Amino acid sequence: MIPYAKQHIDNNDIASVVGAIRSDWLTQGPKVILFEKELAKYCGAKYAVAVSNGTTALHLAYMAIGLSKNDEVITTPNTFVATSNMVLVCGARPKFCDIRMDTYNIDENKIEKLVTKKTKAIVPVHFAGQPCDMRYIQSIAKKHRLLVIEDACHALGSKYENDKIGSCKYSDMTVFSFHAIKAITTAEGGAILTNSKKLYDMLVLLRSHGIQKDKNGFNVMLELGYNYRLTELQAALGLSQMKKLDKLIRMRRMIARKYQQALKNVDDIILPKEIDDNYSGWHIYVIRAKKAKDRLPLYKHLIKFGIGVNFHYPAVYKYPYYKKLGYAKIKCANMEEYHKSAITIPLYPGFYNVQIKTVCEAIKSFYAK
Ligand SMILES: *Cc1c(COP(=O)(O)O)cnc(C)c1O
Repeated sequence: MIPYAKQHIDNNDIASVVGAIRSDWLTQGPKVILFEKELAKYCGAKYAVAVSNGTTALHLAYMAIGLSKNDEVITTPNTFVATSNMVLVCGARPKFCDIRMDTYNIDENKIEKLVTKKTKAIVPVHFAGQPCDMRYIQSIAKKHRLLVIEDACHALGSKYENDKIGSCKYSDMTVFSFHAIKAITTAEGGAILTNSKKLYDMLVLLRSHGIQKDKNGFNVMLELGYNYRLTELQAALGLSQMKKLDKLIRMRRMIARKYQQALKNVDDIILPKEIDDNYSGWHIYVIRAKKAKDRLPLYKHLIKFGIGVNFHYPAVYKYPYYKKLGYAKIKCANMEEYHKSAITIPLYPGFYNVQIKTVCEAIKSFYAK
């Protein structure tokens, strides 16, 4: 079975982790600090805070802006549940904004209608690695005095205009995940990037129990925090992965180009496209069946050929838990049309030409029937 996504581990990664496990330091230490420096430098932001995963990164980012009861956050329903789940964990309410049909990202033109007195932040998600219209999103945020937190868990290595995602040029914070199948991995891991010293200090405090050392070296607890720290073993893996990040992104882009060439004449499917100003890291490759009724049979057909396929994503507000919370009446028309037709096909660094061919032939054979 060809998986739809897979990590890329080489001997340098293994040597790096072995070095860390032999060192005197296993929990958060010098390698975590180095990893944060590399991340900040790569993205062009002032600060990076490494944490245990992308979900805890979102939680800390929301806590750092003081998100709480009576606040609302505008986000996309086309995301992994963690984006809005952490809003709920803070006691606040996510408001789901419909998506664009060219990028499947939040439709920036529909955000302003959802702004109320309670709105505190906008959380765009760079779906599949394709950046959102950050310039416009920031302009709405400025007008209504809202914060912007980018969920860039798909988009490490992507660029918007000429800036790397994570530069926080048009946002207050950017969140990444280093889960096994993301652009780089630390097995589990995440980070928050920011240019604000104030937010940085708060994130660091909340990551470790809200405790700080005073000038005599005594622990002082100032905030109700957590243990969301990354380990040295994970940071060691992250450091060696960072060295090949650009290469991994180029490999992903090459596969996307090959799919594009091989499938462009299949009339019954819609291929994803990169729009102007965007350089996508192609976290996933989502095709759409022009006739929604073809989706499930095509999905099953591909599985029969040993091809790992997936669905990204069902609308978050459609999950039973969200329905129970009062989201049953929400309807984002584009989101629902999108989801009825979308299938994720395999794409990861080290996905070979013969495998690309297998996938493309399987798709073509479905429509040749
Ligand atoms: C992966 C992901 C997360 C969560 O990251 P974890 O590291 O798995 O906790 C959040 N948002 C999006 C869009 C993701 O893809």
